[in-house]
Amino acid sequence: MTAGDAYAPQSGDLSYDVVSYDLEIDYRVRTNRLEGRAVVNAIAARTTSTVTLDLVGLRASRIRLDGTSSVSFRQGPRALQIGLPRRLEAGEEFSLEVVYAGAPAPRRSRWGSIGWEELADGALVANQPTGAPTWFPCNDRPDDRARYRMRITTDRDYVAVATGTRVEDRVAGRRRVAEYVSDVPTATYLAAVQIGRYARTELPSAGPLPVELWAPPALRAPAVAAFDKVAAMGVVFEDAFGAYPQPQYTIVVTADELEIPLESQGMAVFGANHLDADSERLVAHELAHQWFGNSVGIESWRDIWLNEGFACYAEWIWSEATGDASAEACAEAHHARLRAEPQDLVLGDPGADLMFDDRVYKRGALTLHALRLTLGDERFFALLREWVARYRHALATTDDFRALAVAAEPSAGELLRRWVDRPALPRLPRARSRR
Ligand SMILES: [Zn+2]
Repeated sequence: MTAGDAYAPQSGDLSYDVVSYDLEIDYRVRTNRLEGRAVVNAIAARTTSTVTLDLVGLRASRIRLDGTSSVSFRQGPRALQIGLPRRLEAGEEFSLEVVYAGAPAPRRSRWGSIGWEELADGALVANQPTGAPTWFPCNDRPDDRARYRMRITTDRDYVAVATGTRVEDRVAGRRRVAEYVSDVPTATYLAAVQIGRYARTELPSAGPLPVELWAPPALRAPAVAAFDKVAAMGVVFEDAFGAYPQPQYTIVVTADELEIPLESQGMAVFGANHLDADSERLVAHELAHQWFGNSVGIESWRDIWLNEGFACYAEWIWSEATGDASAEACAEAHHARLRAEPQDLVLGDPGADLMFDDRVYKRGALTLHALRLTLGDERFFALLREWVARYRHALATTDDFRALAVAAEPSAGELLRRWVDRPALPRLPRARSRR
């Protein structure tokens, strides 16, 4: 067992990589009771005789290795320490089946309450960054992406909407069973299940993007209106970033108000309070994560600007495409705001406490705008499309982006050093076209 990410050292185990999660979850809404069975198929990354699975707030009752022998384990507050009856060699495949149950609840973290959360009438999953272990045993590292099969049984008046492609949804007596399969490599923080009294609406997809909306019937009309631009956003973003990289886009609207919307793999969840015109930028932001964060994935949390800065810049691209404020106007306004903030944040390594600080988002977007001004539109968008294509459903780092940018324009190296590696806020370069 070895600790994972530098920003979340108590999560994850580097001694193995998960290939797939096979989850069977039975959830009763009224009593908030979850019974689960998880099969974790994995490959040892090094010789090891103990492995750790993160699990928080739920109790494991049995663990079996390779479908046969029960193994001994110790459950701590954050994880299962599993002693294996034999030593695994690097490259060896193994599977762990965990039977577990309990009353799922969010975990408290330096980033607030995260994970499985009861709604007024249903349940929500908001994992990022380390909430996944509140509902399934996992190797909770951003760089360990796996396939998923999730079979969720809940009360018949509710529907479970999960990440992946729905392959089954049927009522059986007083329960409703839904199954979702995802072959897209998905990080634990991007796996999700949303449970509520939701009805399904197919949104018009003018572009290539099939969009499915799940909302409480009472919110159907305002939700359809709020997301009627998603197809057009898909067209603008495909033009800017390349083909939409997921097999579907699923939008869930909760009856509850939510602090923020949140992306997961091929999905985003919004609150009842996010259906107004002011939230249009958030709709663009969450959609953009399907390229940045969900397809191009970060290897470690320190590189979070590769998700959030890019998604924020997509908001400005959408604003510009609709004839609202140009990206240049957005950049100048946010640059002025950031100048008034403390300049003590290093974009490429903001520290765990500041990884979701708004300055990471805005300075990340400004960094892209500075690159755009330096490269000109044609070379800048070619760079973004190359980034998306080269790291499609793969992991990337800030240095990977740096290498690609420098290959396009040697002076991008110094530009990124100033914007990404140093705390002082640089001035925006003068636009190429104005020279
Ligand atoms: Zn975001």
